[in-house]
Amino acid sequence: MKSLLKRTFVRFGGEYFLRKRNRTPRVLFWHGVDINPNPLVEAESIKREDFIKQIDYLEKYFEIISADEFYNRYINDNFKGTEVVLTFDDGYKNNLKVLAPILKSRNLPYTIFITTNNISNGSLFPTSIVRLVVFGSSLKQLQVPSIEKKFSLETLIERKNAASQLSVILKTSQISVVEDVCKDLLNNLEQSELSDLIRKHSSIVPMTWDEVRELKDLGATIGAHCVDHICCHSNQDQNEVQQQILNSKLIIEKELNQPCEYFAYPNGDFTEFSKMCVKDSGYKLGFSTKKYKINLKKEQFQTMPRISVPFNIDTFKIIVNMYPKK
Ligand SMILES: [Zn+2]
Repeated sequence: MKSLLKRTFVRFGGEYFLRKRNRTPRVLFWHGVDINPNPLVEAESIKREDFIKQIDYLEKYFEIISADEFYNRYINDNFKGTEVVLTFDDGYKNNLKVLAPILKSRNLPYTIFITTNNISNGSLFPTSIVRLVVFGSSLKQLQVPSIEKKFSLETLIERKNAASQLSVILKTSQISVVEDVCKDLLNNLEQSELSDLIRKHSSIVPMTWDEVRELKDLGATIGAHCVDHICCHSNQDQNEVQQQILNSKLIIEKELNQPCEYFAYPNGDFTEFSKMCVKDSGYKLGFSTKKYKINLKKEQFQTMPRISVPFNIDTFKIIVNMYPKK
């Protein structure tokens, strides 16, 4: 019913009126783009054909600009109100293999925010580990001794429940807890089963540095997304947050031999302290996941708003025109 309503709204041009009323620059963010991602295990990746529909739409009605051009228009107060910046978080291998060819063939600029340790050692991202183990495996029970928890995985409802509880823990705990929980989760699987699952759900695999360099050479802007995908909330140790924000910049600059000027907060979490770290580290802009309007008061250098992109094309057309609202 909801989808029918959305389709009807879009078919009768509802998004046209939303767009006319809401002239404002927008920064959008996705994660991965892949040929046929599993919607439960590889939920961070949009299907290639759905992404192409979205890019077709954006090319038709908006002006797709780079992060540098966005920054210049921000500091010079000369936005037209039709700008869109394309950004992608984490640094998945499919960004090079699937996404880059699509955007390169159209000569469109884009920014990839990478988490440096995952690039250096190939480790999976915490939320990918949860989804892989909970939805991808055939486990009936999950043991997580570091937080003294067990989850039954007999039914899909139980799996969804386990995934959402674990996801809250990973997004709100200190990094040491997150690392222990991730280790525990992987310990539920035999090494061979884990390798098979990763092969089957390859859109969760991060790039290597050689692949990031290839992406850079194709024209992508490479930004930072912490060293360990640490969520910069107030439960984290401040020294840890400071090091993660600064060191991801330094590592990228060393690996790519060029300045790294943009940062995106993992999970969108920021505090007054992490904002200060982004500023002191020398980034031009820090990107959040708040759906606020971009204002010209110059108060958003460290908390530039971004809109999370829904996969469904009708929902996309509505969200992208309706937001940011205020
Ligand atoms: Zn992320």
